[in-house]
Amino acid sequence: MAAGGDKIDYVFKVVLIGDSAVGKSQILARFARNEFSLDSKATIGVEFQTRTLVIQHKSVKAQIWDTAGQERYRAVTSAYYRGAVGALLVYDITKRQSFDHIPRWLEELRGHADKNIVIMLVGNKSDLEDQRAVSTEDAKEFAQKEGLFFLETSALEATNVEAAFMTVLTEIFGIIS
Ligand code: GDP
Ligand code: MG
Repeated sequence: MAAGGDKIDYVFKVVLIGDSAVGKSQILARFARNEFSLDSKATIGVEFQTRTLVIQHKSVKAQIWDTAGQERYRAVTSAYYRGAVGALLVYDITKRQSFDHIPRWLEELRGHADKNIVIMLVGNKSDLEDQRAVSTEDAKEFAQKEGLFFLETSALEATNVEAAFMTVLTEIFGIIS
């Protein structure tokens, strides 16, 4: 439980989007439960997971939504995006195609979500450096052009997962408080 008992000052809905198998569910498992699984089955049933944390002495409940195998283009429903104040737009650094699809995801996100939504571009599986197919520079340049935050993460090694969520949540906090 967060400091200050069970009082929740804010609830922030954050959505995870990106191609299938880029590691969205494992990023969420790492952030919400500090868990990781190498043979994660397609997510079923659970719509979101929460983690409560403290930002500037306020208790913030992050409600993180994960797609349940709806990653086909335009299959994610508008209910998924509704009310979202943050998004992690995830690709796999070893799968060029997952990065090439990012503009589509961004377009879909911008078409559905609030115009002030805070977006973090996430290049996951940074532990697989020897299989890298997307350079850090390319991603950085794209993020800059589109006004997105950017980090490379490894859900497996727990690298930058916390930072990715905290950057988004802190930015949201700064906007609404
Ligand atoms: P999703 O379809 O986007 O939800 O992807 P999953 O979270 O189910 O992950 C797909 C596969 O990639 C699984 O076998 C995961 O164990 C693996 N995976 C996820 N994150 C990482 C990571 O950071 N590094 C490595 N090496 N594998 C990962
Ligand atoms: Mg999944």
